[in-house]
Amino acid sequence: MTDCVFCKIVAGQIPSTRVYEDDDVLAFMDIGQVNPGHVLVAAKRHAPDVYALEDAQAAAIARAQVRIARAIRDAFQPAGLSVYQANGKPAGQTVFHYHVHLVPRQDGDGMHLTWPVKNPPREHLEECAGRIRERLATPGQG
Ligand code: AMP
Ligand code: ZN
Repeated sequence: MTDCVFCKIVAGQIPSTRVYEDDDVLAFMDIGQVNPGHVLVAAKRHAPDVYALEDAQAAAIARAQVRIARAIRDAFQPAGLSVYQANGKPAGQTVFHYHVHLVPRQDGDGMHLTWPVKNPPREHLEECAGRIRERLATPGQG
């Protein structure tokens, strides 16, 4: 996509600091660096969000993210690591080209995700699960 900043990075049209590359994946340092070692693992072929990924892309990104996570752990010895991926504005997505954040974490590093649990009754879980299972069972879905 001509107007996409990560497509431009993939094409080498704007600078990036790369850590890993294969046919489907490009990983590079997030320019914002929430903590040192903060890496973005991006699809090479433009896909705006998780829904648009091809299976091969999804598999390649998942493999790369695990390998890079271990490399970050060994390089920075963080106390923790957040794997964060946003789809859509309400989820916090700001660059609409699929990517996964690998963020090394320390106690009190200021990164917060509020988690407003509802703890609904089991019947609610069953009803929601049924709706998802139905779609997964539909050919061409899931
Ligand atoms: P998200 O909010 O999940 O869509 O994350 C987008 C991320 O892309 C942010 O953390 C930005 O710091 C990062 N970012 C934006 N432009 C660049 C760039 N040119 N090089 C590296 N990272 C970038
Ligand atoms: Zn793109």
